[in-house]
Amino acid sequence: MSDLKFCQGPKCHTYTTKDRLKGMKGSKTYQTRRRSDFYYGNGNFCSMNCQSDWFKEFGNQAIDHFGRLTFPLKLTEQNAWVKDYDYNYRDDNPKSNYRFVNKITNEQRPLTEQQYDDTSYTLNTGE
Ligand SMILES: [Zn+2]
Repeated sequence: MSDLKFCQGPKCHTYTTKDRLKGMKGSKTYQTRRRSDFYYGNGNFCSMNCQSDWFKEFGNQAIDHFGRLTFPLKLTEQNAWVKDYDYNYRDDNPKSNYRFVNKITNEQRPLTEQQYDDTSYTLNTGE
């Protein structure tokens, strides 16, 4: 398998678990975990610990690089639409449970299941 990748945690190799211990007797080392995929941090970290280690070491640089917020983001009537859905076991329920709800005005608008599943479909017009 050529798609193996390394955990990006800067201290991953310092957590001395058996699966990190590699090499022949006499030259064993603890090594950064390598897998086809990871569960944490968009598939970049083997554990919450490693993700948190990364943020402690690089978080400030990353935020400065991509742009630090210097003003509050605001939820307004224009961007407060969220998709909502009541789970219902009954298959014969004639009413659609899918809807848009505006978190500011509490207005509700009906939604088809297709629109609900379409992640690009939104009523929001601002950020
Ligand atoms: Zn790790």
